[in-house]
Amino acid sequence: MKLYENLLLMRKFQECELREQELKKQLKENEDRKRLISMKTLLKEKIELFKIKNQQFKQMKKELALAELKSSGLQNEIKEMEDQIYSGEIQTMKELEKLQQMQRELTGQAEKIETFAITLMEKLEELEKVVSEERQILLKMKDEYDILRLKTIEEIGKIKEELELLYSTKQQIEENISATILEKYKKIKLHKNQPIATVINGKCNGCNMSVSIVVVQEVSRHEKLIYCENCGRILISDK
Ligand SMILES: [Zn+2]
Repeated sequence: MKLYENLLLMRKFQECELREQELKKQLKENEDRKRLISMKTLLKEKIELFKIKNQQFKQMKKELALAELKSSGLQNEIKEMEDQIYSGEIQTMKELEKLQQMQRELTGQAEKIETFAITLMEKLEELEKVVSEERQILLKMKDEYDILRLKTIEEIGKIKEELELLYSTKQQIEENISATILEKYKKIKLHKNQPIATVINGKCNGCNMSVSIVVVQEVSRHEKLIYCENCGRILISDK
C-alpha cells in the first residue's frame, strides 16, 4: 500500500476516534439518563410515602370496624338489660338500681365509642381522598418514567451500536495500516488530539498556520512522512 493510501486510512482512523470521543461524551452527559435517575429516586420516595399512608388508611379501617363491633355489642347488652328491667323479674329496688346504674355506664361507653367512630370515619374519608389522589399522581409519574426509560434505552442503544461499528472499523484499519505510521500517529496523539492534519490552501488545518511552499510540494508528492513545521502533525495533501 502506498503512503498516500496509508495516510488516508490513518485520517479515517482519526475521524473514527473523534466520533468515538463525541459519542462517549454524549453517553456520559445524556440529559435523559440524568433525568431518568432523578425521576427514579423521586418515584421511589413517593412510593414509600404512599405505602405508609395506605397502611395508615388500612389500620384506621380496621380500628373503625373494631369500634363498630364493640358498639353493636354494647347496644345488645344495653338492650338485654332493658328487657330485664321491664320483664318483671326484678324483685328488689336495690337490684333495679344496680341494673340501671350498669345500663348508664354502658350507655356512656357506647356514646364514647360512637363519637370515636364518627371522628375516625371523617378522618378516613379525608385520608381516602388523599390516598386516591396520590395513587393517580403516582400512576402518572410511573407512566412518564416508563416512556422516558424506553426513549433513553433507545438513544443509548443507538449510540452503543455506532460505537461498536467504530471499534470494528478502527480494528480493521489497525490490521491493514503500516505499523510505522500507526506508531507515529499514537505518539503524536499523546500530545495532540488530531495527529493527522490536511494541508488546505497552504495551511495546516491542525494549527491553522501556513506551511512553506517546499513543504506543500513535499506533502503532495507523498513519498515520505512530512510533519507540520509548526505543530508537528503528520500532513496529508488535500487532493
Ligand atoms: Zn500544524
